[in-house]
Amino acid sequence: MRPWNFSAGPSALPLEVLQQAAAEMTDWHGCGMSVMEMSHRGKQFTRIRDEAVADLRELLAVPDEFEILFMQGGATAENAIVPMNLIGRGGAHKADYILSGIWSGKSYKEAQRYGDIAVAATSGAAAEIDGVRQEPWTWFPAVAEWRLRPDAAYLHLCSNETIGGVEFSDWPDMAALGAPGVPLVVDASSHFLSRPIDFSKAALVYAGAQKNAGPAGVTVVLIRKELIGHALAVCPSAFDYVNVAESGSMFNTPPTYAIYIAGLVFKWLKQQGGVAAIEAANIAKARLLYDYLDGSGFYINRVHAGSRSRMNVPFFLCDESLNAEFLAQADKAGLMQLKGHKSVGGMRASIYNAVPLQAVQALVSFMQEFERRHG
Ligand code: PMP
Repeated sequence: MRPWNFSAGPSALPLEVLQQAAAEMTDWHGCGMSVMEMSHRGKQFTRIRDEAVADLRELLAVPDEFEILFMQGGATAENAIVPMNLIGRGGAHKADYILSGIWSGKSYKEAQRYGDIAVAATSGAAAEIDGVRQEPWTWFPAVAEWRLRPDAAYLHLCSNETIGGVEFSDWPDMAALGAPGVPLVVDASSHFLSRPIDFSKAALVYAGAQKNAGPAGVTVVLIRKELIGHALAVCPSAFDYVNVAESGSMFNTPPTYAIYIAGLVFKWLKQQGGVAAIEAANIAKARLLYDYLDGSGFYINRVHAGSRSRMNVPFFLCDESLNAEFLAQADKAGLMQLKGHKSVGGMRASIYNAVPLQAVQALVSFMQEFERRHG
């Protein structure tokens, strides 16, 4: 049996997908070539791309008004690509950002190169919530506190902060917030495909694939068609959404193998019963782990209960001198990549779609045993 992999990304892929890729490695569907060896413009790869797009559209019920793009440069490149494509729309060259952790902070910083960028809300200073002191970046700023500019070209937020373990899924209706013309742009990288997306709320959703969707190298962009076609003159042609959309994500040679594996993941997800079924499994996994953490006096998760991520669960040992021992023992027990991000410390269990309930059960059993021996 393979060890359980709790990496935050690149992260666990479904074993069935890896096995299928291995079986097809040297000869894809009898064509005599590996997917890595075929022209992106040939009929085989065109089919792979078309099926990936169609399967993703079906899985997330992406409306026809949205284009599905496969891009490169990761979510990091989108931090520049988004403002370069959207900020010129409307002429005000303004955009608003919600700061909820390290990833949204990076998006905000990058965007400043392209216009007048404002912080609409932040959780970057400690605060008291429900009578409890919350450390910075351990909750998502309440919608009621967002300060929006109605003439902004867009509002950006990160709906799952991978490092802080903070998730925000109840996306608001921008019209109800007094900013009806402001499109909502969401970096959904680390919970993409783990739950449904409400496309009546968001106008652009992007995600690096290397958590729930596939290997690193491809970025998925779901964008309302009317937002395409407003790029600044400085925008590189390969990053202009018009060119990507008009070429079927083949303005330049796409990351063919990454798209192929993502396509296999989409088919695997359909076999699991789709996004609703995987969401139910993700809820059960997260509940098991959080319930255990909350009931233990030995471990702690510091994220406000209403903002806890189902995908990334940072936790600490109350006695931090045991960290190295915990990680060494976990590794021996076949529980890999549990070390927390260096900026936060402690541990982090990323329990993405491809990490089954069995893995979380194994983790909790290990944690109980470790607590028994050291508590
Ligand atoms: N946004 C989020 C939420 C992420 O988790 C990450 C990567 N972990 C990024 C952006 C950056 O993605 P990439 O490294 O693919 O550019």
